[in-house]
Amino acid sequence: MTQLRFYDTMRRTADPFEPLGEPVRMYSCGPTVYHDAHLGNLRTYVFVDMAKKVLRHTGLTVRHVMNITDVGHLVSDGDEGEDKMEVGARREGLTAWDIAKRYEAGFIRQCLALNIAAPDILSRATAHIPQQIDMIATLEDKGLTYRTGDGIYFDTSKIDDYGKLTGSSREGFEAGARVDAGDKRNPTDFALWKFSAEGEQRQMEWDSPWGTGFPGWHIECSAMARQYLGDQIDIHTGGIDHIAIHHSNEIAQTECCTGKPFAHTWMHGAFLEATDGVKMAKSSGEFLTVFTLEERGIDPLAFRLLCFRTHYRKRMLFSWKHVEDAATALRRLRLRIKTLNDEAEAVPPTSEAANRHIARIEAALRDDLAMPQVMVELQTILKSKALEPGEKLGLVARYDSLLGLELRREIDGPLPTDLAKAAWEEATRAGGSDPVTL
Ligand code: AMP
Ligand code: ZN
Repeated sequence: MTQLRFYDTMRRTADPFEPLGEPVRMYSCGPTVYHDAHLGNLRTYVFVDMAKKVLRHTGLTVRHVMNITDVGHLVSDGDEGEDKMEVGARREGLTAWDIAKRYEAGFIRQCLALNIAAPDILSRATAHIPQQIDMIATLEDKGLTYRTGDGIYFDTSKIDDYGKLTGSSREGFEAGARVDAGDKRNPTDFALWKFSAEGEQRQMEWDSPWGTGFPGWHIECSAMARQYLGDQIDIHTGGIDHIAIHHSNEIAQTECCTGKPFAHTWMHGAFLEATDGVKMAKSSGEFLTVFTLEERGIDPLAFRLLCFRTHYRKRMLFSWKHVEDAATALRRLRLRIKTLNDEAEAVPPTSEAANRHIARIEAALRDDLAMPQVMVELQTILKSKALEPGEKLGLVARYDSLLGLELRREIDGPLPTDLAKAAWEEATRAGGSDPVTL
């Protein structure tokens, strides 16, 4: 069988995937819950879902952790401006805590509609403040931090390999210096702990050895990955916007704390673009969600299929025509399968022709998630003259739950969501929090 390969952003190659041990330890940066996740965010989670399912499909066990960013993600990546949670709270006249609950629930509902499986652990940043403080204290003990008027910062000039994920040097950052450094010593330095402003009572704030305030966005992922997965992990995922800042900063913090390489494989999904060259973003006013699809009578799984039509590392331009085409394609696939089912009963696919299809699907899945090829192969199977209808159904049955498209829906009806819901709730409990009401 073809060896599984995933593209790693750091090495810039798709090397054969060798787990550090079992279970495979996988961490995914989760949503910032100040607004609904949009279809761009969800494109990233669809690719993460397939990466995890393909790992399991190859027989590996996986321990998957995803965080919920419910504090500390500031409006600007340069550690300036308001906390996004407070912006959300003001926008809706609710507390930051209620905003977090509302949009965490919304995120999970959208994942359920897209058949994105729950992580094993869903961990909220606000439920892991002591772990974040501990890690900052370790960095402080190692002489890697300094204090400014507004917080405790990581001094990136103290480490030689800062920015190794992007391959760009610190000199480049300094010469270009488009980042406003404020009180920072170096433009690439970043906040570990921010103080609540003098005389201001924030809705989300905690005591710390440095003063009342809240953790920086990057330290939450370092602390929670370490808490649940240990010092070294197999796979870390996110969108490409995380490469230069968020993940570069996670690497700096974690590796300085542990003295070991952090993640073996860094996987990043390309953007869903709202218009040519412009990523879909929560901050840009109008954005699209699964709820928008539902309002227009479009099956959310059509969006999952649409995601499969473009490789996850290629940019994808949103258009309603593409979504509607995908919805039509999905309907046709299901009807074709229903017709086959009326003619024959599924049998295990064992013929030579069937084995050739299996080999091609397996090779595509293992080739850094070449989902476009998988979808082409599926069409080829359904059109094949060499395969008996029963074998075609057998092949569909073999890959249906892996793909998560409910290809047998015309036969079995929609998947009941109870189990999937319970898994999200369980993941939240495993992350030390009460589940939100779904
Ligand atoms: P956020 O909620 O902004 O923290 O983002 C959640 C995830 O979505 C992160 O992994 C981002 O990198 C990713 N992301 C943000 N915008 C897009 C987009 N337009 N297309 C694909 N992924 C995105
Ligand atoms: Zn993160």
